[in-house]
Amino acid sequence: MPAPGELTFAAPRGAKKPPRHLADLTPAERREAVTAIGEKPFRAKQLSQHYFVRQAHRPEEWTDVPAASRERLAEALLPELMTVMRHVSCDDDATRKTLWRLHDGTLVESVLMRYPDRVTMCISSQAGCGMNCPFCATGQAGLDRNLSTAEIVHQIVEGVRALREGEVPGGPARLSNIVFMGMGEPLANYRRVVDAIRRLTDPEPDGLGLSQRGITVSTVGLLPAMLRFADEGFKCRLAVSLHAPDDELRDTLVPVNTRWKVSEVLDAAWEYARSSGRRVSIEYALIRDINDQAWRADLLGRLLKNKRAHVNLIPLNPTPGSQWTASRPEDEQQFVRVLESHGVPVTVRDTRGQEIDGACGQLAATER
Ligand code: SAH
Repeated sequence: MPAPGELTFAAPRGAKKPPRHLADLTPAERREAVTAIGEKPFRAKQLSQHYFVRQAHRPEEWTDVPAASRERLAEALLPELMTVMRHVSCDDDATRKTLWRLHDGTLVESVLMRYPDRVTMCISSQAGCGMNCPFCATGQAGLDRNLSTAEIVHQIVEGVRALREGEVPGGPARLSNIVFMGMGEPLANYRRVVDAIRRLTDPEPDGLGLSQRGITVSTVGLLPAMLRFADEGFKCRLAVSLHAPDDELRDTLVPVNTRWKVSEVLDAAWEYARSSGRRVSIEYALIRDINDQAWRADLLGRLLKNKRAHVNLIPLNPTPGSQWTASRPEDEQQFVRVLESHGVPVTVRDTRGQEIDGACGQLAATER
């Protein structure tokens, strides 16, 4: 039985499960897995240290583990999960997108974005997406499958390693922010995403030791899962992909709205703001002549007035084959002004990575 709020999707017939990996397991489960192959329980902690703290993935680097045990431990707990198909960079290499190939040939992507004061990584939680938003490249191809916890975590461990080893120009750096804004609907892969957040934020060496405050989970508004997420006690930020303040338009832009309406989704967002103490980020892709009218800005302003919300306006990144495009500059400015007149904080997202098909799902789509 799925837990309340869990959406289940049928896995493709004959699909092999991703190999079990250390990052799928709690520290206690890691000790069990190690003893099950006849190794001492403390080897589990050593492996966690190598994986999370040193990002030393190759057994020959584990000099504190007897050579005879290394391969066996690697096979049991640190199998290869994914390989880089390619990296694509832009913005003077400050933005790097990675296309990953998973064990069963599935493709997913992650993006590393370096700014003067922070480094943000955008990661995928599913291969494909079942939410079917018409302006989103990932939505067009449908859902392949959920990622395992370790497949989610590994994207970040690799990003941390790349930054530490200076692969991104500007000298070695640390990862400060993680956004679940790559492929997939994170709350439709609820258990694995929550477990991944624990692995990312558990103190070293059990996890990566990152701050919950630096993590943003973005959702189309799966109401039961949002309420369940509010009960986890996280300090992560929640982002709600609203894109329209009225049900009539939102039913078409974010089809899951036919099930959970704008008002219900916003109420769940305020519940999350209360439990986490964090302002909720309202995502709004500005699409020319579709959702960028002054009256919609006014309606949005009324819904968000005096709430713990911040609006993130995203100029639409056009996807191949779609007639839709970004708003005119004057309409964008007007939208901002109207929201501000209601006292609603608003920022316009920068549009990094457009020339490398940085919009959600575009790179994987070109490989299909
Ligand atoms: N499924 C989740 C997270 C992934 S998408 C969600 O929908 O929130 C991350 C954000 O990018 C969402 O707000 C999504 O609506 C937005 N997005 C998708 N395609 C886009 C495009 N072509 N241009 C601008 N924003 C887009």
